[in-house]
Parts: sequence; C-alpha cells; structure tokens
Amino acid sequence: MTTIPINTQVLSIALDVPLYQTFSYIHDVPLAHGQRVLVEFRHKKVVGFVWNEDKTILPDKLSLKPILEVYPEIIPDDIISLIKFCADYYHYPLGGVIFNAIPKILKQAKLVNLKNTRSVVASSCRQIYDKQLNYEQKIIFDDICQHFTHFFPAIIYGITGSGKTELYLQLITEVLKQDKQVLVLVPEINLTPQMLERFNTKFKDKMIAILTSHATPRARYLGYQSSGNGSANIIIGTRLSVFTPFKSLGLIIVDEEHDQSFKQNDNLRYHARDLAIWRASQIGIPIILGSATPSLESLYNYKQGRYHLYKLNKRAVTNAILPKIELVDLNFYQANKGLTQIVVDALKLRLERKELSMIFINRRGYSPVLSCNECGWVSQCKQCSTTMVYHLVNTHLKCHHCSYTVAIPKKCPTCKSQNLQALGDGTQKVETIIGELFPYSKIERIDQDTTSTKSAWQDLYTKIHNHEIDILIGTQMLAKGHDFHNLTLVVGLNIDSGLYSYDFRASELLFTQLTQVAGRSGRGDKKGQVLLQTKYPGHELYQYLVAHDFSGFINYLMTQRKSLFLPPYTHYAMLRASGKNILQVIDYLQSVVLLMQKITIPGITIYPAVPSVIRRLKNKERAQVLIQSVERRQLHMLFDRLIPLLKQMKPKYAITFSIDIDPYEI
Ligand SMILES: [Zn+2]
Ligand SMILES: [Zn+2]
Repeated sequence: MTTIPINTQVLSIALDVPLYQTFSYIHDVPLAHGQRVLVEFRHKKVVGFVWNEDKTILPDKLSLKPILEVYPEIIPDDIISLIKFCADYYHYPLGGVIFNAIPKILKQAKLVNLKNTRSVVASSCRQIYDKQLNYEQKIIFDDICQHFTHFFPAIIYGITGSGKTELYLQLITEVLKQDKQVLVLVPEINLTPQMLERFNTKFKDKMIAILTSHATPRARYLGYQSSGNGSANIIIGTRLSVFTPFKSLGLIIVDEEHDQSFKQNDNLRYHARDLAIWRASQIGIPIILGSATPSLESLYNYKQGRYHLYKLNKRAVTNAILPKIELVDLNFYQANKGLTQIVVDALKLRLERKELSMIFINRRGYSPVLSCNECGWVSQCKQCSTTMVYHLVNTHLKCHHCSYTVAIPKKCPTCKSQNLQALGDGTQKVETIIGELFPYSKIERIDQDTTSTKSAWQDLYTKIHNHEIDILIGTQMLAKGHDFHNLTLVVGLNIDSGLYSYDFRASELLFTQLTQVAGRSGRGDKKGQVLLQTKYPGHELYQYLVAHDFSGFINYLMTQRKSLFLPPYTHYAMLRASGKNILQVIDYLQSVVLLMQKITIPGITIYPAVPSVIRRLKNKERAQVLIQSVERRQLHMLFDRLIPLLKQMKPKYAITFSIDIDPYEI
C-alpha cells in the first residue's frame, strides 16, 4: 500500500479547459494563490495556476497526482480579483479566464527565458508639442484633479478635434507627479503614430509600454512585468491590457470608449471598458471615458447619476469649426458608376486647390459578390452562409469570415456561361473608378488589406505630410482618431445599409462612424465639407447628423430603446451553440431553454432557439437563444443556477456552447 507524507497539501489547480471547475493535485508544501505550476492532465503536461478555495469535502489524497513543477511566476492579487470578478460576471470557466488574461509566454509549459529582450519602450519622437489647455479644457482638468483620491467615472464628450488627447496628457502628468501609474486603453487601430508621438514627446523621461496585438509575446510579457513591478509609468494598450497588473495604478483612460473593439467576440466575451470601470472602482481611482460620440450605455449611466459628464464643445485649433454636412439625394441626383456629379465636382475642386479628399466606403475588396447573369449563381463560401468577395488585387474570391480563397472562375460553375458580373461596390472598385475619372491624381486605398504591416500608418502619414496623396479611399479605419493634415472634403458612399438592420445597435454605429469620419475634415484652418450620398435623406438619423445634434440623436435613440425594451433599459444575454447539424444544435439549445424555464426567476424572458444570422461559419452550424432581464441581478441568478445543471446535461452530439453577457453580436 502506498503511503504519503502527513503534511501533503491538496491544491486546487485552474486549467485551460472549458469546464466550470478546478482540479485537485498534491504537493509537499503550500503554494501561493496564483502560482504557476506544471501538472499532468489527460496524459499531457500542462500549465495550471494554484487557485485555493475553501473545500468542504477534501478528495482522497491517494487518488491524486502530484504537481510536477513549480514555476516562479505568481499572478498578482489585483489580477486575481479581476479574474474572479470576470469569471463570475461573464459566467465563464475560471481556467479559461486566467488563460485569456495572462501573457502568452506564461502559457508555455517551460521556464520563462528572457534573454535577448528588446526594449518595450516606444520609439523616440520628432515633433514638439508645446501646447497649453484652452479655457474649456482647463475647467475640466481642474475639476478632475479634485477627484484623484477616489473612484470617479467621468465621460469626456468632446467633439472631433476638440483636443481630448491634450487633456489626457495633462491629467497623466499630474498622476505621474504622485508616483502613480496610468493605463490608457485604445481601440486596436486607434493607436496612431501621431498619438504615440505625442505621448513620447510629453513623457520623454518616463517608461511607456505599448501592448497591442502587434507586440511580440516577449514584448507583451515584458510590458506586463514592468507594469507589475512599477518600472513602467504608462501602459498604452488594446482591450487585453485591462488584465495588466499594476504596482500603483492612479488613473485609467479609455479613449474612444464607444468603440466596439473593446468587446471581445469569441471565447471569453468580455468588455474591456466595463472591466476597467470595475478595476477603477476597486482601487478607488478616476476613470476617464473619452469620445466624440459616447456610447449609449455610458450616457445612460450618466443620466442615472452614476457617471459624470464633461463637454468639450469647441475645436482646439483656433478658428477651426465643424464641417458642413450635406446629403446628396440619390432619388434626385443620378449616380454614374456610384458617384453623383456633385461629388465628382467637389473632388475636382480639391484637386485644383491641392487639398486632400477622403472617400469612405465601409466594404473592402472590389465587389461583395460575383454573380452569373444567366442562372443567378452567386459566389457562396463553401464553409459559411455568406458570399465570397471579389478581390481585384491578385484576382481571387475571398470569404471575409473564414478567409477561404479561390481563383475567380472564368465560367459560371453551374451553367458554364461566361456572363459573370461583380455586383456592388467595395474600396477597390471605387479606387478603380476614381483612377479612371482622375488619371493624374495620387490615390491611396486604406483598408485591412493595405494596412497589415507595422509601418503602414506611419508611411501613410509621411505621404500625406509630403503632399503625395490627393484622394484617400477607405473603410471605417479612416474614421478613427486620425488627424489628417489638409483634409477638406469627406465623401460617404453606400452608407444606407446601417439604417434598416436587424441589429438594434446598427444605427448608433452608423451615426458614430459618420460623425467620426466627417470629423476628419476641416481640423486645421481650412473649412471642411462632407457629402453623403443617400436614398433616405429624410431619415431622422441623417437629420440629426446634418445638424451636428448628437445629444438630440441620443435622446431619440434612448426613447426608441426604452419603448422597445432594449439595452440599456433591459439586460441581455445570448446563449450560443454550434455543431455539425443545425437541427442538433437547436435541439440542444432547446433543452437548455427547458432547464432555464424550470428555474423560475421573475422578470426574465427566454426566447426560443433560432439559427444565427450567419448560420454557417467555418463549416459549423450556429444557433442562439436570447435572454432578456429587467434586472441584471436576476440574469446572474439565472446563470448561477443553470451552470451546475448544465454539467449533468451532456449533449448527445459534439456541440460547442457559450454564454455571452451583454452581447454585441445579435
Ligand atoms: Zn450560371
Ligand atoms: Zn467562409
């Protein structure tokens, strides 16, 4: 019979498995909460983290496996609390949350080796900003400075070009003076070279760690470490940076807080802004939510008295005013190859004046679909219930959901006709049309296909600065935070699709994008013009847009959402499942619905299981169940009771199941 030493410890270990539980292992001495270890699980050596919990029934030590190795890294206490909150709030397996939150390097089953490390500090700067706050900025600055010692959630609602960044820089300066650290969360593509340059110039003698998806795993880990030990003063990063440990955090800034990229739409479906607010509340520090178009959720919190609101109504550059937004009625003005004469004339005028123009069309590729004029065949993706996009560069058809790519067929695959046609417009098609119209103009296309390299944005800025571009054509990437020199004309094409969408957030998104895109023009001393081609010029959304009446639009949206019982007036959760066969997926979800119906909690509406909007994605059939709750507390009660029941309900088929709290994909 095997004997084990009397002082052997039973430790709970969190592993990266989609199960709502930890696993018991033994070790000869106690280990710290959050300690990284190596264990054997299902005949594999895997990394786990010690997660000691109160256990009423201890498992039999004899049946347990030992911890194989103890690594030196320990998840710091502040991140332990955040992970716990995140697992509870999003009803996600604890191990899954940990492995989402930690740097990649810590997931490897080996010792961390940091030889040959390159610096994480951002490159040095060239431009000098010697700026002072204007009257509006100064009042806000003084007020926020009064609240450095406690939790203080504040929205800074500043029109485009009103100098939000300058205000951030001054606030950060104050926090750094107190030997505290600052976390700046930015949307992925919003970390422009300009913004970085301003930070580097302002904080020359400080250490700034940049944590975006472009950072190598090593750089990410170094940033994580230097933040935790207090050597980095400022962390600028995308949504994942919300899980960065800090020695002494004094301020969080969420720039462009309305941006939907703060919400992760797979695995752990967390919202970085919401987690950041929770962190600030735990530590007792201010958090700034900055935007020219704050989200409805944040404004709702302001109206409820939970957040503060500051407004910046003036553009920071003296004499710069908001551009004039004009609607071009497509029922009245005929478009030739997608462009009305008004737009063509406006572009011509900018070329003559040597000013920059920008054309916004929110679809990349040449055409969204290739179709047969004889039999109606369309370029359907083999793996998804979507069409494949016609790409002119390296001519091919590509699915934007799964990246499946094929050569362009010369003949229709069904009827062999050669009468094929690319339907609809994308950035590449507009680029071709503009090139034909203005053969001597210098055109640059900006979309996911052209900006994948690290230096793409820097190159673009250099070109704009050197007057090497006349017309920019691009997707919503152009809308984000950029400050393009000499830009006086913005044209919006194919914008109407967001008006009548199944997604209740679509009109908010459209308004935000158009406001942001329009806001790129006329930021200097030259007046800007915005031309939007639309078939629905009378639509309320456009009327508010033309009047630059964001508050009016928000009130209109809030009234609408309230009367339709939509968030933020109610709380949503979405159950998602996917598998090989749609009937099996729906069948599984329906059985979960039955379980939920037995848990009687008032104020909750459970809708039947239906196929998702994109029903087939990457060869998986998908369905969903919407759950609506008057109170958030009740929604959490429902899932707290449901999850233990789910353990006993194994699906008959291979089905992936997930819970999405506060979903963005409807
Ligand atoms: Zn055909
Ligand atoms: Zn696909």
